[in-house]
Amino acid sequence: MCFEIMDEDFRFRYHHPLPNFYKVSNPANPKTQIDNSVLKDLERLAAENNCAGISYSKLSDDFRKEWNIDFDNVIIFKYLMSPEILEMDQSKLKCKLIDDEFQEIGRKMYGFADFLRKNEFSAELLNPLDDKISLRAIAMQSNDAVITRSNMCLFKEGLNIGFFMIHTSIENLPFKQENDMCWVGEFCKTCGKCIRKCPENAFDENELVLRKVCTAHREGCSQCMLVCPFYKKGYIKIKQKYDKRVAKKRG
Ligand code: SF4
Ligand code: SF4
Repeated sequence: MCFEIMDEDFRFRYHHPLPNFYKVSNPANPKTQIDNSVLKDLERLAAENNCAGISYSKLSDDFRKEWNIDFDNVIIFKYLMSPEILEMDQSKLKCKLIDDEFQEIGRKMYGFADFLRKNEFSAELLNPLDDKISLRAIAMQSNDAVITRSNMCLFKEGLNIGFFMIHTSIENLPFKQENDMCWVGEFCKTCGKCIRKCPENAFDENELVLRKVCTAHREGCSQCMLVCPFYKKGYIKIKQKYDKRVAKKRG
């Protein structure tokens, strides 16, 4: 991990709880091994429902016990938050539109859980509004994301990724063993655009975001995201730029 995860007391302030849309019950004796073809079907279903990608986290025992989660296997469904909404000025309307999108995508998650339940796996949505669970810490355990200097969770699909998580009895998910994104921490050290752009001076003397000052989750500020090269140009282009810079330094 390249930057610390800050306390999340202020996350999701403007989101409403998701209603329960399950149509299928969990099996009494859930299976633990998934066939590749069923996993591919799940990935196809997610893609057809506007998911930008899927990651898989294997939780540490400590996390699972601390958060009282039944299974240590987590599937992360990622979606791209609409740039048209993120690029609006902060306002109540913007917060509402972000929540509308969250509700619409969240509803689909129950369909993914039902798909797994029909295939005899246990599957349960982790409540994204539960302050006792750090979804971002779970995301970090996927080895498929990093926390940026602006305290955002960066996946390769983009900086404007929202995500939902399902924990499941499936033991043989394709968990990544190593994180190849930690170079982002070095890149961020040479950038700092988010800190300079912040209208609230929400970064402390150690350049960590003060969640109580940041207005992202109360008023919908996205300034640090909008100015970030990872948002503007995408992960792959910035990685290429970084690699060139490193190669030049090495001569
Ligand atoms: S969301 Fe806005 S207030 Fe919060 S750190 Fe980013 S720029 Fe600053
Ligand atoms: S604006 Fe720069 S320093 Fe801030 S998160 Fe993005 S790359 Fe890192």
